[in-house]
Amino acid sequence: MITITDKHNCCGCSACVQACPKQCISFEEDEQGFRYPLVDKAACVDCGLCEKVCPVLNAGEPRHPLAVYAAINPNEEIRRESSSGGIFTALAEAVLDESGVVFGARFNDQWEVVHAYTESKEGLAPFRGSKYVQSRVGETYRQAKAFLQQGRKVMYTGTPCQIAGLKRYLGKEYDQLLTVDVVCHGVPSPLVWRNYLRDITANNLSQIASINFRDKSTGWKNYSVKICGQEETPFVNESYRKNPFMQVFLKDFCLRPSCHTCPAKSGKSGSDLTIADFWGINDPDWDDDKGTSLILVHTCQGQQSLDSCNIPKKQTSYEDAISHNPSIEKSVAENKFISLFWQQYYNDGLNNIQSLLDKTKPSIINRLHRKIRRLI
Ligand SMILES: Cc1cc2nc3c(=O)[nH]c(=O)nc-3n(C[C@H](O)[C@H](O)[C@H](O)COP(=O)(O)OP(=O)(O)OC[C@H]3O[C@@H](n4cnc5c(N)ncnc54)[C@H](O)[C@@H]3O)c2cc1C
Ligand code: SF4
Ligand code: SF4
Ligand code: SF4
Repeated sequence: MITITDKHNCCGCSACVQACPKQCISFEEDEQGFRYPLVDKAACVDCGLCEKVCPVLNAGEPRHPLAVYAAINPNEEIRRESSSGGIFTALAEAVLDESGVVFGARFNDQWEVVHAYTESKEGLAPFRGSKYVQSRVGETYRQAKAFLQQGRKVMYTGTPCQIAGLKRYLGKEYDQLLTVDVVCHGVPSPLVWRNYLRDITANNLSQIASINFRDKSTGWKNYSVKICGQEETPFVNESYRKNPFMQVFLKDFCLRPSCHTCPAKSGKSGSDLTIADFWGINDPDWDDDKGTSLILVHTCQGQQSLDSCNIPKKQTSYEDAISHNPSIEKSVAENKFISLFWQQYYNDGLNNIQSLLDKTKPSIINRLHRKIRRLI
């Protein structure tokens, strides 16, 4: 039976919750807003299934990609709405053209991030764009399995640990399943997100009309966070460097503990494809600052799906890909001020966060070191 004694050992994929034949595992939110499984011991029959499907207890082997590409979706509008080069939509449309089903992360009516599915191209729009909050997988592994058993083609997208959880949950390979994970820095706390939205809307979330974590009107690299209401003036429209939620996310103050010891990076998720931003693409023909996708191909099925969506792509090396994107392989270290952050957060929310952020600013010498390392 699943027992969480160290929170680093649960990525919250919910494979155990969905697999339990007695439905005696519930998901409880902790004080940081992350959900963990809790077993009703009286109802448990000790079948061991929850442990069998857990991607942390059964981590996969790291894989070196078979091929690496830079790619750009030629549809400019879709690329603008996407966080990177829009490869997610290109892959998804090819699956829908074969009467398939696509799973991804979207906002619900409370602006929480949840997994859901669509069978139409219009239904892809809410999945577009990165949402920097842990998404709730809900019942989607069960739903994906039901579609697969009907013989439907299924594309399931998510973080590497969500793909690892799905694969363990399914327990066998399906020819019609395409799994695509995103390179993952880590997922910030849903609690910090919820409270941030309440703060900026004076506790009236229904005023929000749209949220874009990666608005490209200021460029792909120097993106902005844009949160609009019904009025002309947005609630938030500022560089990610200035946005308090993005600052605490990128400084690793409020990531899920498992993100510091990720069980699914480096291809361990078992996905067919991994997609990401091609940060540091060193080719002016492939960088117009409107977004370029990086694609790591792990399986022949992944290569076939990529070829079938017929978008311009250029083959490149894994070394090129990894040099500006350490999150492909490495978990981020735990910020030594995490406890201080939570202490301050419970007292004062994200107000006065600047002094804490200043403490974590790298010194000039460290910055110089980093630059030299990059150049080398
Ligand atoms: C939490 C998070 C951290 C990331 N960290 C990095 C990183 O360090 N380096 C890097 O290069 N790229 C990172 N990415 C991936 C990158 O931001 C893009 O999502 C990816 O390149 C796909 O872009 P696209 O243009 O092809 O499509 P888009 O339309 O931008 O991507 C949409 C895809 O992202 C998925 N998605 C969106 N939000 C979530 C979520 N909260 N949980 C699970 N899946 C989600 C959707 O299901 C869909 O598959 C991260 C993404 C997320 C969600
Ligand atoms: S051991 Fe079996 S019955 Fe008990 S919680 Fe795990 S899956 Fe459920
Ligand atoms: S990692 Fe997933 S399967 Fe393992 S305990 Fe956590 S929620 Fe359950
Ligand atoms: S860093 Fe790893 S554990 Fe954290 S959300 Fe991403 S894939 Fe999951």
